[in-house]
Amino acid sequence: MADAQGSAPASRFVHNKLRAEALLAKLKADGIGHHVAGKRVASVSGRTFETTSPIDRSVLAEVARGDAADIDAAATAAHKAFKSWKAMDPDKRRAILHKVADVIEAHQEDIALLECVDTGQAHRFMAKAAVRGAENFRFFADRATEARDGLNLPTRDHWNVTTRVPIGPVGVITPWNTPFMLSTWKIAPALAAGCTVVHKPAEWSPVTADLLPRLLLEAGVPEGVLNTVHGFGEDSGKALTEHRAIKAIGFVGESATGSAIMAQGAPTLKRVHFELGGKNPVIVFDDADLDRALDAVIFMIYSLNGERCTSSSRLLVQESIAAEFSARVAERVKKLKVGHPLDPATEIGPLIHQRHYDKVCSYFDIARQDGATVAAGGRPFDGPGGGFYVEPTLVTGATNAMRVAQEEVFGPYLTVIPFRDEAEAVAIANDVNYGLTGYVWTADMGRALRVADELDAGMIWLNSENVRHLPTPFGGMKASGIGRDGGDYSFDFYMETKNICLAKGSHAVPKLGA
Ligand code: NAD
Repeated sequence: MADAQGSAPASRFVHNKLRAEALLAKLKADGIGHHVAGKRVASVSGRTFETTSPIDRSVLAEVARGDAADIDAAATAAHKAFKSWKAMDPDKRRAILHKVADVIEAHQEDIALLECVDTGQAHRFMAKAAVRGAENFRFFADRATEARDGLNLPTRDHWNVTTRVPIGPVGVITPWNTPFMLSTWKIAPALAAGCTVVHKPAEWSPVTADLLPRLLLEAGVPEGVLNTVHGFGEDSGKALTEHRAIKAIGFVGESATGSAIMAQGAPTLKRVHFELGGKNPVIVFDDADLDRALDAVIFMIYSLNGERCTSSSRLLVQESIAAEFSARVAERVKKLKVGHPLDPATEIGPLIHQRHYDKVCSYFDIARQDGATVAAGGRPFDGPGGGFYVEPTLVTGATNAMRVAQEEVFGPYLTVIPFRDEAEAVAIANDVNYGLTGYVWTADMGRALRVADELDAGMIWLNSENVRHLPTPFGGMKASGIGRDGGDYSFDFYMETKNICLAKGSHAVPKLGA
């Protein structure tokens, strides 16, 4: 059978491998540098680190290892470029950002292949990563012309007119999961708002972050508008959050890192926006369309290797159907195809890195120690290349107090917790530190809305998997984040709101000392 690209899966796999080999040979020869003021540069210190592939642990490239000196150069470039980027006619900014989307689309195949090799994500998902990245640029490009719009708040004697101005150069710090798509999700609105950016990508997945500034330059984005500094969180990441010229930090990553960034940014009063971890519930009531619920439950934890902040990693299922529904989930989990990420048939690839692999594997024993049952998987997987593969895992018989019900595993790992009734479902769902998303499956619309209202989470999907609509707010409550992205919410973060008050006539001005 032919796939979406029109070729049979086996030959597509061969094609992917050959094309990836060519890209990797070039990457290895070139290495990965910082991008500062439109130029590719080495670290001031000359230091580098190796980035490796999760497929076979091979070295993909030497990467410039940035620190405070490189961040200072990048922040200075962003500061210098800010004045003219801010002042640019929004129509022109709109056109340039659309061109960025065109250029990303033109490179979508290479972006997908590099992302697979760098992160271990299956090609079936990464094939769309570049397209999603381009959509992010198009969406915010179209809003660039209205970013400064405000309100008129008149009184009898005055006109009050609000407007927004870009806050200044901003820092964007991104994690290793779906790095290309996520970086564009943060950078596109910042640029559309008129901010310039210093991007610090994750050290475990620097490859497509090296491509992005080059694509932007090709599209006509002026030098210094996007600068990229690689390196580790404690070096370049920390320095970025502390730099005086950087007015705000848009951060996506772990909750504990968010706390550290808040402390680091305090002396310079950084505005922060955090998209953090999750331990998201999917609640399945016994009246739900169970076939559709089953598809969604599987998709929302086993797609993207489960390395997905919005994954539904806790399955709350009503007692009356718990045994049968869990058995159906287990049957499907055992059939998931773990394999080489460039194989179009693969559903689950290797995990990103040895450290993350060790963490996910530790939860196999934690489940058993906690007294839960490993109903499927629960072991490392001997995959092609000998990389960081694990068996997709299902844990049943859990209570919500167990670590497997409370901690973010961030892998293809689902914990099932039965519940009696609506009240207990809501109580279990909310009894966790996180509050990013919630998913509810029921035929009773009244109940769906009641539960949606009660769940402590920033985003709720009723009878649906996670389907994104870019104008809607994206973000979490509790330990899952601060602030919202999407549509106008992004501009509120990247811009300052200003009120301009103008007297209509000759109202009485108070007279002192008269
Ligand atoms: P992480 O917090 O370890 O790292 C994220 C980024 O922060 C990296 O670039 C890292 O170098 C940098 N960093 C680390 N320490 C820093 C410091 N002290 N100062 C400044 N920067 C620092 O996260 P990760 O392991 O790369 O990513 C996985 C996490 O991201 C998961 O918890 C996941 O849920 C979360 N995530 C959340 C969302 C969301 O939208 N809520 C989306 C994707 C991922």
